[in-house]
Amino acid sequence: MIDIINYDDGNIFAKILRNEIPSEKVYEDNNVYAFKDIRPQAPVHILVIPKQKFCSFDDFVTRSNDKIIASFFKTIKKIIDQENLIDGYRLITNIGKRGGQEVPHLHFHILSGKLLGKIVP
Ligand code: 5GP
Repeated sequence: MIDIINYDDGNIFAKILRNEIPSEKVYEDNNVYAFKDIRPQAPVHILVIPKQKFCSFDDFVTRSNDKIIASFFKTIKKIIDQENLIDGYRLITNIGKRGGQEVPHLHFHILSGKLLGKIVP
């Protein structure tokens, strides 16, 4: 089990979901919110988060169910189609300290708009 277990309601993405801090919306439905990363690492850098409280991918797969998991991934694909990323893209989710996770609310990065190169520089 990863070291992130208890959800922290004070994390920055929880604040974004509560509209306590602004974000640049890309997509929203009842279960998912997507917005632009504040420090983009590529011309397209979108963060996709579930509205439910999950700390990480690890937590999501452990505590969620197949229907919600499938729906979340289908929504990521919907956003990719919406953004017309026909030349390719990269999906990343960082988990825990060693994975480089900064914000303890599950998020997938969608990166695109340039040749992305190696995963770990
Ligand atoms: P992690 O390292 O946890 O996988 O990624 C967290 C991401 O959240 C980083 O790419 C960082 O730039 C982004 N981020 C951190 N704070 C904010 C914020 O207040 N607004 C937005 N839009 N992105 C943020």
